[in-house]
Amino acid sequence: METAIEGDIESTRQVAVRALPLPPKPRNLRVRKKPVRREAEDSSQRLRLALQAAFLALNVWIGLQFYFWVRWAESGGRTMSVSRPAGVEGWLPIEGLMQFKYVLASGQLPRLHPAAFFLFLAFALISLFFRKAFCGWICPVGTFSEYLWNFGRIVFGRNFHIPPWIDLPLRSLKYLLLGFFAYAVTTMSAAAIADFVESPYGLVVDVRMLNLFRFVGTTTAYIVGGLILASVLVQNFWCRYLCPYGALMGLISIFSPARITRNESACIDCAKCANACPSALPVDRLVQIRSAECMSCLECVAVCPAKDALALRFVASAKLHRVVPAWQLAAGIAVVFFGLVGYAKLSDHWQTHLPQEVFLKLVPAANEQHHPMIRDKIEENRE
Ligand code: SF4
Ligand code: SF4
Repeated sequence: METAIEGDIESTRQVAVRALPLPPKPRNLRVRKKPVRREAEDSSQRLRLALQAAFLALNVWIGLQFYFWVRWAESGGRTMSVSRPAGVEGWLPIEGLMQFKYVLASGQLPRLHPAAFFLFLAFALISLFFRKAFCGWICPVGTFSEYLWNFGRIVFGRNFHIPPWIDLPLRSLKYLLLGFFAYAVTTMSAAAIADFVESPYGLVVDVRMLNLFRFVGTTTAYIVGGLILASVLVQNFWCRYLCPYGALMGLISIFSPARITRNESACIDCAKCANACPSALPVDRLVQIRSAECMSCLECVAVCPAKDALALRFVASAKLHRVVPAWQLAAGIAVVFFGLVGYAKLSDHWQTHLPQEVFLKLVPAANEQHHPMIRDKIEENRE
């Protein structure tokens, strides 16, 4: 039985191991063990792909409804009338962070764009309970990114690896972006946040974001095209190097009790887990994965051939480990997400209640003020 001192030694060893770049395990030092094959078929990836597809479909639905609502407002209420889907506020991560700060500072739920707060809270709690499972299981950008690198594998037969000396500084980019946004938000008072959200700009900030993609300028086209190409070639390019939201979820996930754990006595050192990891983590050389980059995608667990060698576990203490099967992870994500969205809807803290006339005035006016090219397009829509 492991003593407290042995537990401390193990934790210290792991901290030291994580701090250093890990050299590959020399082949001649690998002990050949008799493999005990896993019997049950792993269904985690089928479940994950299904949940990803469901959330992608939900986002496409929200996107279409939002587009038709914007068209309705731009036409002066003459096209088909649809309601504004509050779920679009999930696409406003900075506003979600602002609303979170507002709630902490004022002790009140926001009146306008409250869904941004509830969605941010849901994603943060999912990261706290299940590591960065938001990125690996439900984020539509993460899902699209995964489709792209899988497409790259089909076309080129593989994905390309960025050398570690470029990979490491590139990974820090997303933390720099996060630091910039976090500084801007945390230095705002609750009153300043409320002023921004209630301003003509803040009320239709979602429309401005949509227009960025509706009326693509040359610069935006080059940037989006470059990101798509990079995502085809390199696994999770956007998530790994540039997404500040994923960086925030990763930092929250450091406090999560859930982590991939490797049982060294059952492991046969085949390294299949490390080769499968889309975050390029050295799963085969660590006992626990505590990295902020782990998305709880379970790809490593799915490919592991050895019985009981690798699993996602809740680690409460050195002795108290509990395996979290894929279905419990999926159910946990769904309970947190739909629980908070359901609470917000039932308590009437989901929709932004403003007279339709406000949006009929603000949506076209905001566009005209800032985008001369868009103004022409809106005039075409009106005609
Ligand atoms: S360590 Fe496993 S669960 Fe974490 S990102 Fe890598 S493959 Fe996914
Ligand atoms: S996949 Fe990883 S954890 Fe599983 S046996 Fe191979 S090296 Fe060990």
